Amino acid sequence: MMGKEKLKAYTVCDKWNDAGSIIVWAESSGKAKSQSLYNDIFDGYEFTDLRVCREPDFDKYAESKKVPIQELLDRCWWFCCCECLKDHLGQDSIDNGDAFIIERDERDDFVLGTIICADCKKKEDNK
Ligand SMILES: [Zn+2]
Repeated sequence: MMGKEKLKAYTVCDKWNDAGSIIVWAESSGKAKSQSLYNDIFDGYEFTDLRVCREPDFDKYAESKKVPIQELLDRCWWFCCCECLKDHLGQDSIDNGDAFIIERDERDDFVLGTIICADCKKKEDNK
């Protein structure tokens, strides 16, 4: 633990928006970037390839470093199915019954909860 240093939330993405976005908590945007280079999704990227955006709404999650998935969906984020990795599952997919939020929290990342597609959920339910 780093004592009482106040961490701020940032969204970090690459400038081409290829790899996706992550949320990190750090003291400054520079630290947010350098911290993100350790994340697998930015493997091979340079410091100058990354873009940072302040996310004051997520400061309150600095302790757990996890944002409830619904809050990200509300901001038009999309996710991959946690089983088959089918992508672009967002709020629309949930509204249409093509995807579901589940409480699973096995991923070591910044999201609390995960998304499963309808096909995989059916398989899970039949187990
Ligand atoms: Zn799936």
